[in-house]
Amino acid sequence: MKSFEAVKHYFNRAADKLELTENMRTLLLTPKREVQVQVAIEMDNGELRTLIGYRVQHDNSRGPMKGGLRFHHEVDLDEVRSLASLMTWKTAVVNIPYGGAKGGIAVDVSKLSTRELERITRKFIDEIHDVIGPDTDIPAPDMGTNAEVMAWIMNQHNKYHGFNPGIVTGKPVEHYGIPGREEATGRGVGILTLKTLGRLGHKPKNTRVAIQGFGNVGSHAAKFLQEADCSVVAISDISGGYYSKEGLDILDALKYANANNRSLEGYSAAKHISNEQLLELDVELLIPAALGGVITSENAPRIKASLIVEAANAPIRPDADDLLTDRGVIILPDILANAGGVTVSYFEWAQNRQFYHWGLDRVRQELEHILSAAFEEVWALSREHDVSLRTAAFMLGISRVGRATVLGGIT
Ligand code: GLU
Repeated sequence: MKSFEAVKHYFNRAADKLELTENMRTLLLTPKREVQVQVAIEMDNGELRTLIGYRVQHDNSRGPMKGGLRFHHEVDLDEVRSLASLMTWKTAVVNIPYGGAKGGIAVDVSKLSTRELERITRKFIDEIHDVIGPDTDIPAPDMGTNAEVMAWIMNQHNKYHGFNPGIVTGKPVEHYGIPGREEATGRGVGILTLKTLGRLGHKPKNTRVAIQGFGNVGSHAAKFLQEADCSVVAISDISGGYYSKEGLDILDALKYANANNRSLEGYSAAKHISNEQLLELDVELLIPAALGGVITSENAPRIKASLIVEAANAPIRPDADDLLTDRGVIILPDILANAGGVTVSYFEWAQNRQFYHWGLDRVRQELEHILSAAFEEVWALSREHDVSLRTAAFMLGISRVGRATVLGGIT
């Protein structure tokens, strides 16, 4: 099943419960606009390279469209479309005044120099500057992009449209960004994980955790959960998995990765395992925090965790989702679990518009407040309708977007 088909599948399951008509489903699922542009650049060695850039603007009934920019070699239009749609439901679940969008370029950033990355970013903005804006569509970081890339986006967009830091979020703190944005997605995963554990009657100290991915999201989630007394027994990156039965020292692993070009390659304080083995470890909690589609109907039967928190977008394929849910595994879905990032993006954007500065304590407090409220609503809905947390989250998101669409007038 392709990526957008998968989102459609979850959407329809929730839409059945909400008894939405076929026409309403088509209206809510169809993206408003899909832009595909040529990004031609000169590489450092003088070679010409032509890339394709995408921006899918899915829905704006609740506010300007919002979503990250992904630079990854597997990016294609179908994936960007599915991620844009997930952003629509995500912003609605946490009830922040945004719609959903996503962008991407199919490129392997690990093979680019910083200058090449900057040229690609600026050229992409040259091509799409007139379809994005602080009141229409606001990009942010995603896989393969970071605060530095966001600073280039702001600078390039401002050349066409004048100074406006609210054009993009996830900027460096020293350059119109907000403290706590970088940690926000991982921290949000941590906050929501603790809430779920509490609701299920699991104590953090009896919870062994395996986290796939040790990038921005995975590493902050690992740190937060270790500080909360969970035992993080495994982490991983593209160099493989690192496992310790007694629990890893996350600060030590972070120090190692930071000194080693952000890679865990060669980390010897733990046993080396594969990324596949990590998913199947004997743990209570599994957090996929890397690529989409890593849990399939093939490996799902071997997964031992009783709770899975989707820090990545769409890490579980729909057929695996069914197998796991039937077995009683609780899944905290991406559109709630990783919504901390876009929530703090909202704070950054609001601040940029007011030229008012929030400190880290306030950011963390407001983040917790918004995520907790969303968690309570999704949990209550899942109990009330006897559905999974994923279906409940989709029901909440879809009903908010549907209501705003009708109130705004359809034709
Ligand atoms: N890329 C992140 C996500 O998938 C953040 C988006 C944003 O901050 O706008 O939620």
